[in-house]
Amino acid sequence: MGLDQLTINELQEKLKNGEVSATQITQSVFSRIDAVEDKVHSYILLMKEEALAAAAQADKNIKKGDIKSLTGIPIALKDIVCTKGITTTCGSHILHNFIPPYNATVVEKLSQAGAIFVGKANMDEFAMGSSTETSYFGPTRNPWDLKRIPGGSSGGSATAVAADECIASIGSDTGGSIRQPAALCGVVGMKPTYGRVSRFGLIAFASSLDQIGPFTKDVQDCAIMMNVLAGYDPKESTSVNAEVPDYRQFIGRDIKGWKVGIPKEYFIEGIDAEVNAAAKKAIKVIEQSGGQCMDINLPHTQYCVAVYYIIAPAEASSNLARYDGVKYGFRSAEVRDLLEMYKTTRQQGFGAEVKRRIMIGTYALSAGYYDAYYKKASQVRALIKKDFEEAFKICDVILTPTTPTPAFKIGEKTNNPLQMYLSDIFTISANLAGIPGISVPCGFTKRGLPIGVQFLAGHFEEGKLIQVASAYEKNAKIEKRRPAL
Ligand code: GLN
Repeated sequence: MGLDQLTINELQEKLKNGEVSATQITQSVFSRIDAVEDKVHSYILLMKEEALAAAAQADKNIKKGDIKSLTGIPIALKDIVCTKGITTTCGSHILHNFIPPYNATVVEKLSQAGAIFVGKANMDEFAMGSSTETSYFGPTRNPWDLKRIPGGSSGGSATAVAADECIASIGSDTGGSIRQPAALCGVVGMKPTYGRVSRFGLIAFASSLDQIGPFTKDVQDCAIMMNVLAGYDPKESTSVNAEVPDYRQFIGRDIKGWKVGIPKEYFIEGIDAEVNAAAKKAIKVIEQSGGQCMDINLPHTQYCVAVYYIIAPAEASSNLARYDGVKYGFRSAEVRDLLEMYKTTRQQGFGAEVKRRIMIGTYALSAGYYDAYYKKASQVRALIKKDFEEAFKICDVILTPTTPTPAFKIGEKTNNPLQMYLSDIFTISANLAGIPGISVPCGFTKRGLPIGVQFLAGHFEEGKLIQVASAYEKNAKIEKRRPAL
């Protein structure tokens, strides 16, 4: 088995006992990239030279006995987090040449933990999408079936882990962008509680929903990554100053007596039969693991997608007002005056989906419509949050399918935005409520496409998610397959 196929935990063991070097691991990842990247297109930018230099430094540090939790581990970064001196495009033409003068806090933290950065992963433009088809740099393909989408918007981060083009990666999740691609690519993906991980240096899409989180090959690695990512950041006003536990302690603990809520609103007509069957099977595994599954109600679930598609575009329309060609990024050349410069820069710099969101958002916020749309959506959002607060009074965690269907075909939904928006029907609620969620592989369809199961918990209960996901992973014994690329 190639080193690129191993987990952080396994590689750390091998690094510690001198069996392998950081350079060997990094080389293994880059030869895998050489072999499969043309097919999958996980990356917008590769950082081979920097990575090999960082690996050489890591090897020196290891010799001195200086080994941190991610020393020598190749990690991919979604191209939405700012990297000092390295192009950060957000998947958009308007930022295709943007070189940030600073690092995102998560980049600093990963770097301090010894991580080696492989490159910047492909994504839907400004993280708006569920398929990674809206990227200015072209689509990413699902390694399990190259005719299919990998999910989105963090598609490249998911495929890079699934195709062994890195050991773990970072994504962002505004309405499902970590959990949905994790499910469709057969890897683990966690969206932490809003405020758990600093958003400083994360290019904003919808600021009240955005959260950074990890993609990993298993649940233990998710705990290792969360140990690095979580924590208060004085540079970010919504980051919460709450104690961060060592998430590794939750690995391998049992869930005897845990109450696991099964919301009937998430097992609806229209959901793919194989996905439904896999989720039902996951419920059995939880019961065999000592959990008590119970029916619960989340009565406002039906409003989640509608509320999200008012709040997210509204915030996006405001956040994206800053891209005007003046200070940084793309500027249209063929202009005669300032106003024309603004207009043509934005017209040529943004793709169709981003423009659609800006228009919806601007409309929802405009005088006369604000109360009817934005204010109403915010009120319903409070009810959705309350649904979860009530549910967590009676259960420890909630189990749902992560997505309504397995990966669909490239091009299948590009002309039907509403169909595309429904891809996140089971993930959006966690962002609206601010609670954490994790997607864990729970099987394959007959055609060999991965399926994911989602667990949700109360605010700052990522530990519970790791515990239940780890117990599930251990007892479900999902066959370890690798995509045939
Ligand atoms: N697919 C959803 C959207 O298009 C969520 C995206 C995300 O989480 N960044 O907005």
